[in-house]
Amino acid sequence: MERTFLMIKPDGVQRGLIGEIIARFEKKGLKLVAGRFEVLPEDRVMEHYAEHKDKPFFPGLKAYITSGPCFLMVWEGKNVVSITRQMIGATNPAEALPGTIRGDFALEIGMNVIHGSDSDETADREIAIHFKPEEIVSFEKIDEKFLY
Ligand code: ADP
Ligand code: MG
Repeated sequence: MERTFLMIKPDGVQRGLIGEIIARFEKKGLKLVAGRFEVLPEDRVMEHYAEHKDKPFFPGLKAYITSGPCFLMVWEGKNVVSITRQMIGATNPAEALPGTIRGDFALEIGMNVIHGSDSDETADREIAIHFKPEEIVSFEKIDEKFLY
């Protein structure tokens, strides 16, 4: 089954949105298979956001993402990468549609509540950056025969 890496950013944690966000993915039918609270260490921020390290917004992004605990997760399900990206919405909350997480819960690109892997390759890479294989729990959910 496909997996993705999702992370509730410090603003989402501080604003008490963890439960609301997890509920959306659970209700969709996706399965949470790993989760951890953490203030990201600098080396992992550099690895995670390597593609953005030379962008003008990177210093601000680094300060934001390390400003408090994040809630890191691995989610599983059919087409989980594209479905969660759709549910998260556009990078800039001002452009994210209502009904999406960023569209409903954020105002500015600098504080956009949640991260989600953007492709299967990125998901594999990001899961490996943040989780050890033994931290990811495979289990059968009772509702699965009504989803697949
Ligand atoms: P996404 O998170 O939707 O995949 P990107 O990979 O383009 O978006 O950017 C990674 C993160 O960097 C964004 O979620 C956001 O937190 C931050 N970011 C991107 N562009 C900007 C910007 N112009 N100003 C401030 N922060 C930005
Ligand atoms: Mg991205």
